[in-house]
Amino acid sequence: MFDTLNAPWRDAYVTGEESQKGCPFCHIVQNPSMDAKHHVLFRSSDYFIVMNRYPYTPGHFMIIPHLHTDNIAQLDAQLWQQMMHQARQGVALLKEVMHIHGANIGINIGQAGGAGIAEHLHIHVVPRWERDTNFMTSIAHTRVYSTDFEALHGRLLAQAGRFFE
Ligand SMILES: [Zn+2]
Repeated sequence: MFDTLNAPWRDAYVTGEESQKGCPFCHIVQNPSMDAKHHVLFRSSDYFIVMNRYPYTPGHFMIIPHLHTDNIAQLDAQLWQQMMHQARQGVALLKEVMHIHGANIGINIGQAGGAGIAEHLHIHVVPRWERDTNFMTSIAHTRVYSTDFEALHGRLLAQAGRFFE
């Protein structure tokens, strides 16, 4: 478990449509009408913010550019700034809604960096609580809390407009 905690943004992201072909993030970009189903929290013309369906901790979300690239140098400087701004806003959102004690913000670059979907860059924001190792032990390997996931998505979405801009 400790090892897992040292790689808090190790990717295990899928949209819940494992059978689909191609990049799951591009799938979200191209299907705004399915934002609710995909648990999108915010969408702009250049990037979107989406809950991680297989969260490291509850409330784990990602900020993802629309541009399909694995090269961080290809991200426009202004877009980069906006995404980091949203990461900061996201921490504030998590503090208010989920009373987090801390957070991890991180990017895995390339498969060597631990990215599960290495071909499309994404920024992880992972909520943390004191002693969440105990908490994680209790939910590790159980991905059955889909009701909680839906409820949490609703709670975050209800406040997202006040934080993401
Ligand atoms: Zn993509």
